[in-house]
Amino acid sequence: MKVIPIGIWGGYPKANSATSSFLIEHDGFHCLVDCGSGVLASLQNYIPLEKLDAVVISHYHADHIADIGSLQFSRIINYYLGKPAPPLPIYGHDQDVENFAKLSYKEQTVGVPIQETDVLHIGPFEVSFCETTHPVYCLAMKFTVDGRSVTMTADTEWRDELVEFARDTDLLISEANLYEEHLGKSPGHMAGSEAGRLAKMAGVKNLLLTHLPLHGDPTEILHAASNVYEGPAELAVVGKVYEV
Ligand SMILES: [Zn+2]
Repeated sequence: MKVIPIGIWGGYPKANSATSSFLIEHDGFHCLVDCGSGVLASLQNYIPLEKLDAVVISHYHADHIADIGSLQFSRIINYYLGKPAPPLPIYGHDQDVENFAKLSYKEQTVGVPIQETDVLHIGPFEVSFCETTHPVYCLAMKFTVDGRSVTMTADTEWRDELVEFARDTDLLISEANLYEEHLGKSPGHMAGSEAGRLAKMAGVKNLLLTHLPLHGDPTEILHAASNVYEGPAELAVVGKVYEV
């Protein structure tokens, strides 16, 4: 499978960029994970919007869902232009009833509820989930195809359960929103050292850091992770194709 970072920022995007979002592709099937601010503009650099086959949402913070409305408008405009498409499934948990309801729009997109215990088949992918520790209910997710896996922490502070969830994964895409001096001071997020510890304890093959802060120098976060995890690690690069 191929993984392409679409956005790498937490909170809000830098100029001409997007908040944390990834495109996962296999056998011509395109799945977008999270759809926050700036994602729709960035995504069109890599695929036409109508080629999207599914969307999975980790949680309902604005930096993960802000562009869902624009995605829905793109579908309805195509429909009015005489280019109807089947409803686009948007998977998200339904513990937040109001936000889950917004995933469905005029038969252009349809919200599909997910539970932590689900093992879903989305296109060619088997997708499983793990609750994270975040101010709102949030699900980490693991995409598996042909014995290869990509695990995404979504937003979380340190959580022991993520170690087994990410065990031996080929690519761990971990949030690393905090500099070390902010460790323990900002609930719901991890510092680079914790992302590194997760990668090390889970025995992952590669580590990619995302949901980065806009202030400071994120290479410090990478260094903090690499001080703990000895495998290959890098800051996610928008548009770079990671073959898994
Ligand atoms: Zn969040």
